[in-house]
Amino acid sequence: MPNCDLHCHSTCSDGLLSAPEVARRAAANGVDMLALTDHDALDGLPGARAAANDVGMAFVNGVEISIEWEALQIHILGFAFDLGDQTLNAGLASVRSGRIERARQMSAALEKVGIGGAFDGAMRHAANPNLISRSHFGRYLVEAGVCKDLRSVFESYLVPGRPGYVDHRWATLADSVRWILGAGGVAAVAHPGRYKLSRADMRRFLAEFKDLGGQAIEVMSGSHTPELVDTYARLAREYAFLASRGSDFHGPGESYVDLGKLAPLPDGLKPVWETF
Ligand code: AMP
Ligand code: MN
Ligand code: MN
Ligand code: MN
Repeated sequence: MPNCDLHCHSTCSDGLLSAPEVARRAAANGVDMLALTDHDALDGLPGARAAANDVGMAFVNGVEISIEWEALQIHILGFAFDLGDQTLNAGLASVRSGRIERARQMSAALEKVGIGGAFDGAMRHAANPNLISRSHFGRYLVEAGVCKDLRSVFESYLVPGRPGYVDHRWATLADSVRWILGAGGVAAVAHPGRYKLSRADMRRFLAEFKDLGGQAIEVMSGSHTPELVDTYARLAREYAFLASRGSDFHGPGESYVDLGKLAPLPDGLKPVWETF
């Protein structure tokens, strides 16, 4: 089975390496096919593709779209779409547009619990200010000594019910799938095991995604335990979803799994990359 890594981030969103650096690191780690999937942005794709071409690694356009489904923040991956598609580009611009205002509100909320300077602090970590994200706030809170690492930041801050979390209107599930399919791409649910959904709600979500034309789910993910891999392999077979594999690498020292280092897909699944 080829070593395909179809989920990772560059400095165009909340990764620590530039897009060409991500591609070169993937190739050095033995990746045969890479998709760069920055949050809500396509700017890194041409540079990553050029670097992939230089080292002879297959490259697929990717994106990770932030959506809201029944008040939960969920991520939908798009693969192998036309980079110039106007509806997709306009849709992603609309998703990005609220991020700076949300960051100001997050900063104000942190100020109330005695953490000052978070907006400027987070912005210092954001190479692309339009993609200011909770990760950048997290890095600032670690730097400021508020938490010892990113994991504890996300336990104590920046998540629903904790200081620094601000509700946000993202795209809808229907929008995200329509944009990806309209641009000739394939839509996949990112790290399904990470969402706080009951089993029944997850099934309802997957059925709705399938009805809208969604084709794949990420079975192997840097944020899945072996038990979650089993669960989503079973659901992929049951719903006849294609299966994806992605590290969700954000940077050296920050991610649990490096590019290309996940276990292979379990048997009996149809890999999404066979359709590219
Ligand atoms: P945002 O798009 O601004 O809501 O930020 C979401 C990003 O925060 C995700 O893409 C992850 O990179 C990061 N993140 C979310 N939850 C965690 C967590 N528990 N640990 C580390 N990073 C997280
Ligand atoms: Mn991220
Ligand atoms: Mn994600
Ligand atoms: Mn991701």
